[in-house]
Amino acid sequence: MDIVKNSFTDDEELKILQDLIAIHSVNDHEMEVALYLQKLLKKHDISAKILRFSETRGDLIAEIGSGKPVLGLSGHMDVVAAGDLSQWKTDPFTLTNIDGKLYGRGTTDMKSGLTAMVIALISIHDHHLLKHGTLRLMASFGEEIGEQGSQLLKNKGYMRDVDALLIGEPTGYQIAIAHKGSMDVRFTSHGIEAHSSRPQNGYNAINPLMKLLIEANRFFNHSSKTNSQLGKLTFSTTIFNGGDQVNSIPALAQAEANIRTIPEFNNAEVEKNLKEMIAKQNKAGAKVDLDVYMSEPSIETNGQSKFIKLAQKIGAEFVGKAIPTFALNPVTDASNLIIDKGPDFPLAIFGPGNDTPHQVNEYVDQEMYLKFIDIYIALFTAYLNN
Ligand SMILES: [Zn+2]
Repeated sequence: MDIVKNSFTDDEELKILQDLIAIHSVNDHEMEVALYLQKLLKKHDISAKILRFSETRGDLIAEIGSGKPVLGLSGHMDVVAAGDLSQWKTDPFTLTNIDGKLYGRGTTDMKSGLTAMVIALISIHDHHLLKHGTLRLMASFGEEIGEQGSQLLKNKGYMRDVDALLIGEPTGYQIAIAHKGSMDVRFTSHGIEAHSSRPQNGYNAINPLMKLLIEANRFFNHSSKTNSQLGKLTFSTTIFNGGDQVNSIPALAQAEANIRTIPEFNNAEVEKNLKEMIAKQNKAGAKVDLDVYMSEPSIETNGQSKFIKLAQKIGAEFVGKAIPTFALNPVTDASNLIIDKGPDFPLAIFGPGNDTPHQVNEYVDQEMYLKFIDIYIALFTAYLNN
């Protein structure tokens, strides 16, 4: 293995991560992360552009090199809320090293991956390691809720000429090439209030909603459609509210569900099926409406590209064991970024971290974080210079 040329010492790499963890970019305030990175890049003569979405939110784009091929790097700048502070053994916004584990909100998901990509980009630039090709960093806001940041990047054309995409979400030493889609839907059932001694004078909003949910549960969760990498679609009712007085027929009931979709049973089909089930209830006298307020498609690539093979080879050299491909459970910005690319598109979701995202005591192994910087520098240059 070649000695990787890196512009930073381990301590400097830890300091940058520490600075980013200290920024409370909990589904907002990503602008502070973007401004920090813009300043850091500027110190190394790399200009970065901020796509402003609001006062406090925006995407950051930085590019080195020129021409083809174009390797896209994607990472989100937001984190989820810290949760129950009393359950944390450290302050979630102070990077804390305990026995080689770096604790903090966003250490795994995914400020370590984002920082590793930025450090790799700077090091490649400083040492003139690119013979040709373009390395484009696209740091997004709002990945954890709504994925508006990646939507904006896609709409502004930043993915148009991208030949391969690496997303630094936490996978550890394995590469995700597929994930399910996700939909959040709300059902609102309108009834007519009446005293429960005379229910015939009203219309119970809960009843059709219950029937609908039972039917949806049975229909979606017993479908025979399956995907070889992702398995089956899942439908989960996650919120149910209705009525406010024990002796009143309720005029309003609401339920929400989250559906995890697969290419064989996609978001559009789910919506169509839900509308049919609702129409059936409404024909029988109910008044239920549907609001699909979040819909991200599933992503499936075949992992057969040169880029994936190269990532597996270089990863294995650094780690000393084989790097397998797999399908990830959660949705990523890939849902927006590669929505119009086919199954041959080279997508690698490959970044430092473990299975502690969205939990208290989230951490990343210090060694893994530092190693990913070297893997990235070697991988990005090998792919682009090839
Ligand atoms: Zn993430």
